[in-house]
Amino acid sequence: MFKGLKEKLKSWIKKSEESKEILDKSVKIEKKKEVKLKKVRKEEKTKEIKEELLEEFPIKEEIKKESIKEKKSFFQSFKKTLSQDKFEELWGELELILIQNNVALKAAESIKNSLEENLIGKDSKNLDLSNELKKAIENILINPPNFLKEIKDSLDKKSPFVILFAGINGSGKTTTIAKVANYLKKNKFSVCLAAADTFRAASIEQIGQHADNLKVPLIKKDYGSDPASVGFDAINYAKKNKIDVVLIDTAGRMQNKDSLMKEIEKIARVNKPDMKIFLGESITGNDATEQAKSFDEAINITGIILSKADIDEKGGTAISVSSVTGKPILFLGTGQEYDDLEVFDKDKLIKKLGL
Ligand code: GDP
Repeated sequence: MFKGLKEKLKSWIKKSEESKEILDKSVKIEKKKEVKLKKVRKEEKTKEIKEELLEEFPIKEEIKKESIKEKKSFFQSFKKTLSQDKFEELWGELELILIQNNVALKAAESIKNSLEENLIGKDSKNLDLSNELKKAIENILINPPNFLKEIKDSLDKKSPFVILFAGINGSGKTTTIAKVANYLKKNKFSVCLAAADTFRAASIEQIGQHADNLKVPLIKKDYGSDPASVGFDAINYAKKNKIDVVLIDTAGRMQNKDSLMKEIEKIARVNKPDMKIFLGESITGNDATEQAKSFDEAINITGIILSKADIDEKGGTAISVSSVTGKPILFLGTGQEYDDLEVFDKDKLIKKLGL
């Protein structure tokens, strides 16, 4: 992850630090000018006295003009802080790098605001671009709540804990459900799967294969059945058999298909899941961010899992999806094996970015 972005940010920081050095040098020059100014002021005082004396006598106009000109040019060039113009110049390059690496415009805007606030007008000697960029990115990331603890706390009050998975086709939803089942089993929770994708051919067999591999029960109905009723049956099965967690698979749907979005709203309404997870593909960039936004508007998602982070060189989706939806990334999918599921941690992400 971040292979391309990490290098680009590194070289932007280096380049910008160099141009900052130019600013630092100009500060030194300005310091020298300050010393010179004191000298000039002293001389002017002498000149004033001279002028007073000269007023009583015939004077030369040029002497007066020269002293005024000298004062003006000094104040115009006196700058020791990062100016708005210089900032815009540095930001222009950084913005391009971020956007080219799938960072959403809204997220880039937040990064800009944070940098602007912390850089403009600050003494150029004390600017630490790498640290400011780190803080700006940290600000737009959200650390997820403790997934296992949330489930455990909820199970103390009621059982089962129900998790609904939604997303588009091919994003890795079924594989991710299997990974989550595996993670829960390893943490001593009992799990069952609900094959509520009753639409796509072979989807029930696909999730059935994972259920067999992981040795967890699968609750299913015929193709074409009402997906909400499959979830309902699975919850009843879990209640009867004292199963802790029900994971509901749903058919992949495009976020712009109204009827399908209405259907997922119905599944959520009927099954009242404790957690609604949007599954997006890290590599699809802004598409995944836009999908997350639409699914959030439809069913008020609890959090996000981004699959295929292992093959995403850009990484901008992971940086921006929380900033756009206000919802945390819970896990990153990092491969095709059941153990390839990583709890999202913003410090880890920042480290991967080399900041
Ligand atoms: P669904 O249609 O959303 O249910 O997607 P699938 O679960 O069938 O996954 C589609 C493809 O993506 C499969 O080949 C998976 O093995 C692959 N896949 C899923 N998650 C990951 C991941 O985190 N990394 C990689 N590299 N591949 C993944």
